[in-house]
Amino acid sequence: MTLHADYQTDNIFAKMLRGDVPCVKVFEDDVALAFMDIFPQTEGHTLVIPKGVEARNFLDMPTDKLGAYMERVQKVARAVEKALKPDGLRVIQFNGASAGQTVYHLHFHIMPIREGDSARPHASGAPADMGQLNALADQIAAHL
Ligand code: AMP
Repeated sequence: MTLHADYQTDNIFAKMLRGDVPCVKVFEDDVALAFMDIFPQTEGHTLVIPKGVEARNFLDMPTDKLGAYMERVQKVARAVEKALKPDGLRVIQFNGASAGQTVYHLHFHIMPIREGDSARPHASGAPADMGQLNALADQIAAHL
């Protein structure tokens, strides 16, 4: 997928926003939805997506909606940090397939990092245990 293409309404995150596909929800308001990554690269890997926009990536995001969305990204990142107390935290965002993007609705990854642990490969492997993901989502949500 190139950087410049039309937004596809059948992407998996758009389906989540419509309620057509389930997600392990952490946070939702009128601006953003946050949920657990189903192929977590580290324990607590969380995604935050904007609502009400057809933005494939960061470049597409309407500038007047960016500030409110980034506030939610920070809000969720702070809750992840408080809940899981990692040694570090990656906040990452990919634009275009060659940069590593696999889902074409804007999202930020929030990835807790523990010293000595290495992150698993991106968007691959077996999906995480749903019970564990739900427990992590509850832990993070308790700090929102
Ligand atoms: P990116 O490659 O930056 O577009 O990130 C997409 C992310 O979405 C990857 O980390 C995937 O593991 C994650 N992902 C794909 N499908 C789902 C899903 N159904 N629920 C939660 N996360 C997903």
